[in-house]
This record gives sequence, structure tokens and C-alpha cells, in this order.
Amino acid sequence: MVLPHEPEFEQALEELSTSLQPFLEANPQYKKALEIVQVPERIVNFRVVWEDDNGVPQVNRGFRVQYNSALGPYKGGLRLHPSVNLSILKFLGFEQTFKNALTGLSMGGGKGGADFDPKGKSDSEIRRFCVAFMTELSRHIGSDTDVPAGDIGTGAREIGYLFGAYKKLKNEFTGMLTGKGLTWGGSFIRPEATGYGLIYYVEHMIAKACPEYSLDKPTTLVAISGSGNVSQYTALKVIELGATVLTLSDSKGSLVAEKGYTKEFIHKIGELKLKGGSLETLANEPGYTYHAGVRPWTLVPTVHIALPGATQNEVSGEEAEALVKAGVRIVAEGSNMGCTTEAIEIFEASRRSGPGGVWYAPGKASNCGGVAVSGLEMAQNSQRLAWTTKEVDNKLKAIMAECYGICLSAGTKWSGEELTDGVLPSLLAGANVAGFIKVADAMKAQGDWW
Ligand code: GLU
Repeated sequence: MVLPHEPEFEQALEELSTSLQPFLEANPQYKKALEIVQVPERIVNFRVVWEDDNGVPQVNRGFRVQYNSALGPYKGGLRLHPSVNLSILKFLGFEQTFKNALTGLSMGGGKGGADFDPKGKSDSEIRRFCVAFMTELSRHIGSDTDVPAGDIGTGAREIGYLFGAYKKLKNEFTGMLTGKGLTWGGSFIRPEATGYGLIYYVEHMIAKACPEYSLDKPTTLVAISGSGNVSQYTALKVIELGATVLTLSDSKGSLVAEKGYTKEFIHKIGELKLKGGSLETLANEPGYTYHAGVRPWTLVPTVHIALPGATQNEVSGEEAEALVKAGVRIVAEGSNMGCTTEAIEIFEASRRSGPGGVWYAPGKASNCGGVAVSGLEMAQNSQRLAWTTKEVDNKLKAIMAECYGICLSAGTKWSGEELTDGVLPSLLAGANVAGFIKVADAMKAQGDWW
């Protein structure tokens, strides 16, 4: 057996290629586009040397994958995590390319980051790292070239340090990063956008597949994984609408709320996470049970909506089976490639079994709200204007509705299945085919394939 050289990237490519089969059989000329689009336009790979609090030099590997610029400047986050390598950043940049296409905004795809671990670092160490990282990255980005943003490990604080470093190096105040502070070029709703957008997308899915589990009912049970930016705002939106959030998690374990999380408790977790704390410190809170070393999916006997929001491959085949047994009807990713191939197969087989089955939405569709509001931040920066919270939230809702509609219609046309007996279209096929056609057509118009 040949072991995959870039396992995460190969998984993402395989998923897209499989989804595209019915479309490519009917339109064989696009096979060339698939061969070309899978190769990143450019990868920048660099050394980052920074000084720790003891004056000792530390070294990390920095990257920026400029995947595709057919639809606009490269756009996508920066991941700071010890696991970061080229396979992970290529998979993320590849997914980002099609995700950004599904937002309908003018953004190409990119991703970057470093194998730097912000956990346990002082504020000064993080600042020095960000300055060192931007010293090199600044040569390769710009508001019309490549516009990075946050991802795992890169939040408001890091974006601030990175922006400050760029501004000093170039003597320019431009919108070359998104996720900026509200008083210095950021957009309202950007921090909330991925989580809120996920729920706006899920509301459309519920209305079509299982209106009995609408999110205004406390009897609708929601399991969420993760406890970072995406999961916090996902949970807050679910709570605001009225449904019950049963779980959150981090890399060490899961915290189950017997009667459901409260808004106040989510804020408390937000503060804890900012200080680098972990959920295990909340193990003795009344009403909450902590489970070390397990993800949420097997911990709740009944769940209607499951929302992976932590990282890639965070739902295994067995966990997917447990969710199906627990009665899950909607699985929508807030994370990128949250479900393993095995988990997706289980959910898709359940969907094909007809009414009452699971309906799965891939991250490139259901979590596109984050980068969509980044796109709106770029638009506001270009105009040197700031839109109101309501304006941005309404635009986000419209983008998620449009994205859902595109996935539904491409899924109906191109999943290669007979959709009889009330079987719902595959949103996986829909997202992959619709995103691919948009990117491929722009590439063709620009002479990238023929
Ligand atoms: N990291 C986010 C994503 O995976 C947001 C990227 C951005 O805003 O550019 O879509």
C-alpha cells in the first residue's frame, strides 16, 4: 500500500474529484480544468526567527499557499498551530478556493500560517513572532494581491500585531488583512460571521428537511464541537434563537451541559479561551459534565443537529454511526473538512435512504459566512466606509441563502442520483460542482486552460 504523501490534501482532492464525476462525464472538456486547478499557483515557504522571553532565538516554518486567483485576490486565513504543514495548508487553500467562489464575492483562494504554537506563549512572544512572520509575508501580500485573515490560532490580537508590522514595513494603511479591529478598518459582524452564517445556512436546511426541529424550539437538541471563535458564535446564535446547545469541546475533552448552555456560560468560555485556558477547568461547574479525551458525538443519547466546529477530521466513521443512532438529522460543518471520508459516506448513505435520513453540508458551503464577511470588509475598506451591524448581518443572511440555493440546485442536477421518494439532493455534490464550475469558467476565460 502506498501511504499518501499529503494525506489531508489528497483527501480534499479525492472528495472533490468524486463529486465531480457525473458532471465530468457529461462535460469531459472540464477534466483538463480539474487537472490544472489542483496545482496551487504559487507556494511561499519561509523561515521565521523570533526571540523568546529569555532572549533565545526560536525558529518556525512559515507558509502562504496562493492557490487560485481566477475570481479575485488570494483570500484565506492564517493558521498558527504546531500541526501546520504543507499538506494541511494545501487542503485548506484548495477548499478555500471553492468556498470563496460559493460566496459570490470577488475572492480567489489562499491559506497560510506557521507551525508556531501560540498556546503557553506570552503576549510579547506572540507579538515578536507576528512581527517576524510579517517581515517575510509582507513581500507577498497586499490588498489587491493576497488578503490573509484569521484561522485556528490567529484571532483579533494576532491580526492587530500583523497589521501593525505590515503598516510599519510598507508605510501604508490598507485593507491587506481582514478581521481587523472595528476602529481601524474592521467590519461589524466579522467575529460572529462564521458561526452566525453556519446557523443561517442550517435554518434553510431545517426548513426543507425537518421543520419539526426548527431552532426556535428548546426541544431541538444541538451538539457542537470546538470552543473557539466559530463554536462560540454558533452556540450563541442557537441560544438566541431558542434551541438547546448540549456540548462544546476542545483538544483535551468535551463539556456536556445537561440542561443546555446559557449565553453567560458561553461568554465565560470566551474569556477562558482568550487566556489560553481549557474546558477541563470547568469540570466542577454544576449542571456540566466534563469527559476527558472524547469528542462530543458519542456523549449525547439524543441529538437533532450536529455542528463540528473544531478542526479537520473530527468526526470518525464510528462517531457518525453514533450520531445517526442518536437521531441526528442535520450535520453541517463550521470547521473545514470536519468529517472524515468514512463519516461522510455514512451521512450520505443515510440521506439516500429517504425521508428521516441525515442531511450533510460540507464546510466549504456551510462555513463560508466567515470569509464572506471578510469580503465585505474588503469592500468597505475600498470605499473607506463602515456599514452598520444590521447592513452587514443582512448581507451575510443573503449570501448564505444564495449559497444554499446554489448548492441545492447543483446538487439536484449533478449528484448522479435519481432523487425519488423524497430523497434530498446532496449538498456535498452541489457545493463541489457549483464551486468548481465557477472557478473553472473564470480560469478558462483568463486563458488558464483550453
Ligand atoms: N479561516 C476562515 C475560513 O476558513 C476565514 C478566512 C478569511 O476570512 O479570509 O474560511
